[in-house]
Amino acid sequence: MNKLVVLSDIACEIVEKNVTPVLADSATQLVFGDGDVDAEVVFIGEAPGKKEDEMGRPFVGAAGKLLNEMLASIGLERNKVYITNIVKYRPPENRDPSTDEKKAFWPYLVRQLDVIKPKLVVTLGRHSMDYFLPTVKIGQVHGEPQAVQLGERQQMILPLYHPAAALYNGGLRQTLFEDFARIPIILKQTT
Ligand code: URA
Repeated sequence: MNKLVVLSDIACEIVEKNVTPVLADSATQLVFGDGDVDAEVVFIGEAPGKKEDEMGRPFVGAAGKLLNEMLASIGLERNKVYITNIVKYRPPENRDPSTDEKKAFWPYLVRQLDVIKPKLVVTLGRHSMDYFLPTVKIGQVHGEPQAVQLGERQQMILPLYHPAAALYNGGLRQTLFEDFARIPIILKQTT
């Protein structure tokens, strides 16, 4: 199985099936995800913003700059991880994605992860955490790895705050860097 081909088929299917037609209409393009398809870690954000919508790549704006800094702080190169979002079209005016929009993209995200089969999925913010861990609050579980059943696979999830929330909040930024520092430790412990 060629992972790149399967991932590109999933992206085409999203377009062909016209998933979230209202978002698809207002967005410039689908932002499916990018990075290493054999990555040990996949990061999942909320939805593309303006810059991501323009470039067709996730996390290329201000939040992406902070994400790059955090990756560098644990010696991970961006091209060695895979990055995507729960919702793959930009919501107008950067509003929060709706429950229906997240629900519409969830099966595609699960398939995307099933192709990549990462050791660890890092959710960034509550929107991407919600479907993996529906009963928890991010304030209580951030930085604590959780095992969930995803179809046939057990998947380790690390819920973290969203980098955009830490852009103007020094305390949260510190927490996010501390939580990030756990990633290499979790990777070592996960077979
Ligand atoms: N915020 C997100 O959640 N995703 C992006 O791709 C960019 C900013």
